Formats: sequence, structure tokens, C-alpha cells
Amino acid sequence: MTRRQPFGQCPNCHGSITRDYVLIEYESEGRPAAFAECPDCRDVVHPSAE
Ligand SMILES: [Zn+2]
Repeated sequence: MTRRQPFGQCPNCHGSITRDYVLIEYESEGRPAAFAECPDCRDVVHPSAE
């Protein structure tokens, strides 16, 4: 797995979010979840899977 692989997509601007922008990863009710700072709109978002 490479670091440049997209981690998910921004729900606001639909830009790609790479692992470099992930702030925290956790599990919510058994499912993996994360907060990331979008490089495009600079918002802290829940990236959605691409
Ligand atoms: Zn965004």
C-alpha cells in the first residue's frame, strides 16, 4: 500500500483525500471511520469511500 493512494473522497467538494490528510482513525460500532482535513476546502470531514 502506497501513501499516495486515495483514502476517500470529501463529501463537501468531492476532492480526493489521501492518507497524508487523515487526522485520526477510529472504529464506530465495529466499522472503521476517520476524520481528515480536506486539502481542497480545508474543512475537517468524514471521508467517504471512493
Ligand atoms: Zn473538500
